[in-house]
Amino acid sequence: MVTTSPVVPCDIVVFGGNGDLALRKLFPALYHLEKDGRLEEGGRIIGTARTDLSREAYLERIDEALGRYLPAGEPDPAVWERFSSRIDYQRTDGSDSTTFTALGARLGDATGRDRIYYFSVGPALFAPIAHNLQASGLVTQQSRVVLEKPLGHDLRSSREINDAIGEVFPEEQTYRIDHYLGKEAVQNLLILRFANVLFEPLWNRSFVDHVQITVAESLGVEGRWGYYDSAGALRDMVQNHLLQLVCLMAMEPPSNMDKDAVRDEKLKVLTSLKPLEPAQVERCSVRGQYRAGLIGGSAVPGYPEEPGANAGSNTETFVALRAEVENWRWAGVPFYLRTGKRLPERLSEIVVQFRSVPHLIFEGAESVVKPNYLVMRLQPDEGVRLLMMNKMPGPGPLPSRLQQAPLNLSFNTIFEGRQPDAYERLLYDVIRGNPTLFMRRDEVDAAWTWVDGIIDAWAARPTAPKGYAAGTWGPSAAVAMIERDGRTWHEDTH
Ligand code: NAP
Repeated sequence: MVTTSPVVPCDIVVFGGNGDLALRKLFPALYHLEKDGRLEEGGRIIGTARTDLSREAYLERIDEALGRYLPAGEPDPAVWERFSSRIDYQRTDGSDSTTFTALGARLGDATGRDRIYYFSVGPALFAPIAHNLQASGLVTQQSRVVLEKPLGHDLRSSREINDAIGEVFPEEQTYRIDHYLGKEAVQNLLILRFANVLFEPLWNRSFVDHVQITVAESLGVEGRWGYYDSAGALRDMVQNHLLQLVCLMAMEPPSNMDKDAVRDEKLKVLTSLKPLEPAQVERCSVRGQYRAGLIGGSAVPGYPEEPGANAGSNTETFVALRAEVENWRWAGVPFYLRTGKRLPERLSEIVVQFRSVPHLIFEGAESVVKPNYLVMRLQPDEGVRLLMMNKMPGPGPLPSRLQQAPLNLSFNTIFEGRQPDAYERLLYDVIRGNPTLFMRRDEVDAAWTWVDGIIDAWAARPTAPKGYAAGTWGPSAAVAMIERDGRTWHEDTH
């Protein structure tokens, strides 16, 4: 079973404490943990960055951010009073060791306290900050480090980061965040698979025709063209979020929910992914780049016309892949993955399409009877739908009375109350010392190994990404890729 640390006061140091991620995600999540009574008495939160800020000025920024990012009516004055009394600010330059002395003085004696260092800064600062923390004697046995994506650009750079962090923090004290794993609907995937008897007998190549995973964004690069252009959809989304979803979908049942039992099974999936050979590039992958189009009725520019863009960029803002997990359970079952920016809507979902019935007894209904499919909606409107054939009430010839209809489990309807944000769950797990939902180093290595293979295959047969109009589901080549296999993307489930 999961062993969690005894709950003692915990000091959380947020590097990049005045950045977008900290103000938009981390502080709202910490506020909710405070509100729910999940932060231990005496624990502190210390924001750090290079900017010189007084505590009062920092609190003003956080208060303003909470007002902007929390639901209406929040922050509650009584909770804010409790929460703000924990918060402090210490100017620290991650790459300047001399500034860590003051941070150390602010942290004080570590006896009987846990420490969390959250690196909400660019990855180039991970190694210097870790090194400076160690050199300043601030890394205790009860310290944990939380690393944000991107964890490198490829296997080599990811190894460099992990090696540098590993010199300071042992693996069991290192928490690599993939916020997808903190989403309620993603965790529910484990419950759906392993707390119900219904699906497991069908969860294999004998009954599953194929799996589709879509992570669609309607936003463009949002002023971060330079950052995005150095990454692209494959590195930014597939290497982490989509492959983690493949793992949860495809993994064998772990013997328990122990951190290593779960991560061992995920690792086996990653190492079973069939490498994409250059000869298969055209059949099994599509790269796209958005052009001007309409999102929600408003005109938006194409990727080459975004502010700061270099018009000749060949970076993909869309990728579709036909992946295979080469093991006994899944051999021959395609996993179609697609993700992109400027698609018609913000949507993440997994669709499992089952095989057709082996013999149809309803004469004339061949074109009406559809296979079952299970749709796990991760965002928005989290829930699970099982599409099944039914008979519409009334007389008349049977084929015309058959219709596919959903068994619908909408989380918002069934579970009352607020759906917590992924960062809440993940931060609480770091505080409790439970790394099950964080990526272990060998998982990151395996994911990069597969993704590097695709990048190498693309490089061996270089082509420009195919244009697609903003507000469409990507280039027509992505439709052709799946249709060559006699299948279609499940846009009708949206
Ligand atoms: P950001 O808004 O640019 O913030 C960067 C933060 O780092 C600022 O607080 C900045 O403050 C601080 N900083 C920069 N150089 C520093 C140094 N030498 N020493 C100490 N602090 C330094 O970026 P962000 O969007 O918050 O993203 C932070 C990291 O998380 C990035 O790696 C990003 O890729 C990743 N990430 C972000 C999101 C998101 O939604 N924003 C999601 C996933 C991952 P000063 O300028 O005052 O030093």
